[in-house]
Amino acid sequence: MECSKQRPSLEFVESAFWCLGGDSLFPLFPLSSKGEEAIERKEDLSQRLHPPKRIEGGLGVKPLREWNETLLVKNLWRVFAHKDTLWSKWVNLEKLKGGSIWDAVYKCNDSWGWKCILDMRNKIQNHVVIDNGSYKWKKNDGSVVNYSTQQVWRDLRSNRVKVGWHHVIWFKGLEPKHAFIMWLATLHRLYTQDKMKSWMPQVPLLCPLCEKTNDSINHLFFQCEFSSCVWKDIKAKLIFRGLPYSLDSIVQRMAVYPFTKNIWNIVNRLVIAACVYFVWRERNARLFRHQKKEALKVGEDVQNYIRWKLLSLTVKNSSAIRKVADLWNMKWVNNRFKFV
Ligand SMILES: [Zn+2]
Repeated sequence: MECSKQRPSLEFVESAFWCLGGDSLFPLFPLSSKGEEAIERKEDLSQRLHPPKRIEGGLGVKPLREWNETLLVKNLWRVFAHKDTLWSKWVNLEKLKGGSIWDAVYKCNDSWGWKCILDMRNKIQNHVVIDNGSYKWKKNDGSVVNYSTQQVWRDLRSNRVKVGWHHVIWFKGLEPKHAFIMWLATLHRLYTQDKMKSWMPQVPLLCPLCEKTNDSINHLFFQCEFSSCVWKDIKAKLIFRGLPYSLDSIVQRMAVYPFTKNIWNIVNRLVIAACVYFVWRERNARLFRHQKKEALKVGEDVQNYIRWKLLSLTVKNSSAIRKVADLWNMKWVNNRFKFV
């Protein structure tokens, strides 16, 4: 390299936007070195806690830095594969003067966006192969395929651990707010009193539901005498007998069963997420709004929610459907559940 990276100019903003084909400019905006470190720390933490894919236990949100790198590879590929675009023609003709981009070096007056593209060469050099005279992408498993942004995105990310419980939480039909609270509870990321205690050790904190001890994920779901009452009544309406009074164990047990459109598969997942949501909502209502409901009433809220959800399903008659209708005090008419 002939010189280090410089702060980008207005020219960079135009070129970056052009290079990215109109994608978000945010990842390439100039940052102070302190700002870059701060963002990297934040991204490391967010990726450790919330990986980008749901199957990895995350929310399914792509981290901008990784996604930006993937798109930079696309521009790099266009240049060395001589793709028929105005920009790649201009780069090969004017910037590289007919030379290879693999031999190009930084120049002091190069834009920051161009330097970022050149930096991606190190990351992909082991993935680029020539097959029958054309450039191909070598996947992490060694197989060779045509270039695709999706494949680059997959291969540039380091191996991430997949979780077995993602399908317990993320499925069509589950209300987003229920899924979100259930997801946080499964990861033990809800702000319960056992975490708050370390910030304010002098403040006495008691579970607002039973007022006997600090609340925690294990206590709220469902070892607390209040929430255990709710769970006891609700789980009697499930076909799974003997479900434990521990969210971790419940999720583990549910994760064993692959998600299917079986009615019990759907109802079980709806019920667990609804119980977690309504108990958490009651806990917060008592803590922050000083409003109280009895365990029986919270259980009724869960039941009513599930019954309304059942109304929206189109189902064919079967013994499982009749059993669900019986347990949830409904009837089956013309492929739909109805209130009795
Ligand atoms: Zn309690």
